[in-house]
Amino acid sequence: QLAAGSILYLDNVTVSFDGFKALNNLSFVVAPGEMRAIIGPNGAGKTTMMDVVTGKTRPDEGDILFAGHTDLTKLDEADIAELGIGRKFQKPTVFESHTVRGNLELALKTDRRVFNVLFGATRADEAERIDEILETIRLKDRRASLAANLSHGQKQWLEIGMLLAQEPKLLLVDEPAAGMTDAETAETAVLLREIAKEQSVVVVEHDMTFVRDLGVKVTVLHEGHVLAEGSMDDVSNDDKVIEVYLGR
Ligand code: ADP
Repeated sequence: QLAAGSILYLDNVTVSFDGFKALNNLSFVVAPGEMRAIIGPNGAGKTTMMDVVTGKTRPDEGDILFAGHTDLTKLDEADIAELGIGRKFQKPTVFESHTVRGNLELALKTDRRVFNVLFGATRADEAERIDEILETIRLKDRRASLAANLSHGQKQWLEIGMLLAQEPKLLLVDEPAAGMTDAETAETAVLLREIAKEQSVVVVEHDMTFVRDLGVKVTVLHEGHVLAEGSMDDVSNDDKVIEVYLGR
């Protein structure tokens, strides 16, 4: 069965707001260790999809399974965070009055449930882990800087680092490239490809160049369901996709 070997499995998920279906029989499957890009025009249901996966919104119908067996539709936000599903919102949420290293320390020490409430875990092994994360998020040289003094893009990286400190199994990332410079955007694609070696990642993104750079399977959402799925080349040559999205 499809669900068995998956990290995230959505089957016919429907979410209605006053009769309007923000998600309409949405089904897709993310394999363990996969990075998936989710694209789609405004109003396609991308945010609602992340809301149902993280327990912020309950689906009216459908199944959402984590790691092949855990039914996420029965759990609340904190329980889902505790399972190891991290969510990076579009806007960076870091402690500006703490240093880069201080932010990571905090994330390393905070229980996943508490972390989830605060944003939306120094021993020697912790220090080592922080150094690793600093390396990953390209902020080794900025470890002692106040987060307030980072660029917008660097704050996004720091927050990704804080999520990594929580050791997620699945990371949901909302438009990481929004507001970034071209150089930061390109670096973010490399960074995400690196972290996708350690955990599964679902990236919601508008920037097509960035999605192309990710080089991963793309799911195109439209009116709350999957319009097309495949490589960026496949979906960008799909007539349905050109009509509703890329052709605009
Ligand atoms: P996207 O993130 O792809 O832009 P959303 O998931 O935010 O799309 O929204 C999908 C549709 O659902 C939109 O038409 C939006 O107006 C509607 N919607 C989302 N949240 C609510 C809500 N809480 N109440 C009513 N309508 C909503």
